[in-house]
Amino acid sequence: MNMQDDRLWIIVPCYNEEEVLPLTAPLFLQELNTLIAKKKISSDSRVLFVNDGSRDKTWDIICSLSKQDEHFCGISQSRNRGHQNALLAGLMEAKDRCELTITIDCDGQDDISAMEQMVDEYRKGCDIVYGVRKSRETDTWFKRTTARSFYKLMSKMGVEMIYDHADYRLVSAKVLQHFAEFGEVNIFLRGMFPLVGFKSTCVYYDRNERLAGKSHYPLSKMLSFAIEGITSLSIKPLTLIVVLGLITCLLGFAGIVWAVIEVLLHKTIAGWASTVCIILFLGGVQLLSIGVIGEYIGKIYLETKHRPRYIISEKTWDEEG
Ligand code: UDP
Ligand code: MG
Repeated sequence: MNMQDDRLWIIVPCYNEEEVLPLTAPLFLQELNTLIAKKKISSDSRVLFVNDGSRDKTWDIICSLSKQDEHFCGISQSRNRGHQNALLAGLMEAKDRCELTITIDCDGQDDISAMEQMVDEYRKGCDIVYGVRKSRETDTWFKRTTARSFYKLMSKMGVEMIYDHADYRLVSAKVLQHFAEFGEVNIFLRGMFPLVGFKSTCVYYDRNERLAGKSHYPLSKMLSFAIEGITSLSIKPLTLIVVLGLITCLLGFAGIVWAVIEVLLHKTIAGWASTVCIILFLGGVQLLSIGVIGEYIGKIYLETKHRPRYIISEKTWDEEG
């Protein structure tokens, strides 16, 4: 098969995006048509919107878009499951219908025109092309610093991740077939694709402000996203407990030696302060350790349930058609 017969599916998760979707949908279509006109992808390519249980008119907009142009289509999750699950739903839906996918947010923050470069890299033989931000000048100082510390923390914790890459990414259907075998429920896509492997590269782009609407990711959600990433993909925290335990044991041993010497020197006055300090210290360490272990037990608990990772309630096409 010729490269220009390769079908591209652009996957766009949407949650309460009635304000921005009418603005960005034509831009996605425009980019798709440009690529088709340049014969870089098949004319049988699609923009797939994944409605993530929106409570506003998002699904209505998606339905009317899909009536307007054959390149638009959509699926709707039965309820809100979060950005990562919406992406997963879209990717799994696309993987048997196309040769390559690009995932992108629907708010116009990621530079849509970078898709052409991604497709070029794909045509050169890359199976994964990571979109990486050139700079964070448009971000506030706070967002910039927290994001940077997020990537540093993740790599310290043993999660392999591309620096400053979010979920703007080209992935070939071949990679997706293998990715589908990652059966876990707690998913953190940007840390999982590096695990799948295959030839990959990066494409750099400018990230803009949202065209309209509000962000769904305040600091609290970013923090839980980071914890999700670490506890889903890394067992480094468990190793850290061992290290902490070793240090505590050494300190405890020194403490015993000291206590014995004190007794031998008949200086054993009621050491209330030191006792309380030691109890507090040990109590703290133990609680912390139990907490981290609890995180993992929680994950094991969820994984053993083997819940479906997404449930599609509606589609804009017939299964036969
Ligand atoms: N999104 C989603 N489900 C959610 C939250 C967000 O599908 O529960 C989508 C949202 O519509 C957007 C993308 O994920 O296309 C990124 O969200 P947002 O722009 O709010 O995050 P930010 O760019 O501020 O980190
Ligand atoms: Mg955004």
